[in-house]
Amino acid sequence: MIAPVIQDSIRVLQTQGYKVTKPRRQVLGVLEEAQKSLSPYDIQRILRQRGKYLNHVTIYRILHLFCRLNLAHKVLSAGGFVKCVLDKKEGCHRFLICRCCGTLQEFADDELCQHEKKLAQNSGFHTEYHLSESLGICSDCSKKQ
Ligand SMILES: [Zn+2]
Ligand SMILES: [Zn+2]
Ligand SMILES: [Zn+2]
Repeated sequence: MIAPVIQDSIRVLQTQGYKVTKPRRQVLGVLEEAQKSLSPYDIQRILRQRGKYLNHVTIYRILHLFCRLNLAHKVLSAGGFVKCVLDKKEGCHRFLICRCCGTLQEFADDELCQHEKKLAQNSGFHTEYHLSESLGICSDCSKKQ
């Protein structure tokens, strides 16, 4: 059985004219199950535990494609990749990252974008995209402390 969320991503690949190859499906599956960002090597290790092998260059290329299609994002502070959970939501996708447990929350906020664009405009700069990652402690971890 293929999870319905993966099914959505598969549809995006198909409508953009990309083949849904076995490796692409496998990487999607691993990203979908993960709560944290994963490096190409993490993904390789998880697949190997399931008796599947992909070399990390292949995995990296697949991740790069997913990022271009907004199916996944690179998390700069963690150096890994996560599946996009905002579906086709417009605007810049941002992250709240817990430094204790590593979980990520993704959000998009148009007002925040407009504000940042205005700030940049004051310097004569035209913004095309915002990247933002907030590091801190998630609600679950702060309850435990
Ligand atoms: Zn996203
Ligand atoms: Zn946490
Ligand atoms: Zn923005």
